[in-house]
Amino acid sequence: MLILTCPCCGVTAEETEFAAGGEAHVKRFGPGASDEEFRDYIFARENPKGVHFERWRHANGCGKWFHAARCTITLEVFGTYSAQTTTPPKAICAAITAKRPGWTWRDFA
Ligand SMILES: [Zn+2]
Repeated sequence: MLILTCPCCGVTAEETEFAAGGEAHVKRFGPGASDEEFRDYIFARENPKGVHFERWRHANGCGKWFHAARCTITLEVFGTYSAQTTTPPKAICAAITAKRPGWTWRDFA
């Protein structure tokens, strides 16, 4: 069972209280983007076996969006943090590295 803590209101609950919002940190390119960059922004998503960064919304609570770092194999949550960030906090990356030495995901390792 996936247990998440909303960083906005501090409530810890099962995933049924939250709504998944897909991959976090999807990069949107500017007006000069190529067709391939725009296609990837719309359609290409990671589906890693291991550490993943995701968007979640506290649907049955405060309603706010936040990000979560978790393992897709074990459902271990490494941390949740504000959705107002473009990269994961260093503390969460350090927590992941401590438990999964050598992990990589884009340039967030
Ligand atoms: Zn909340």
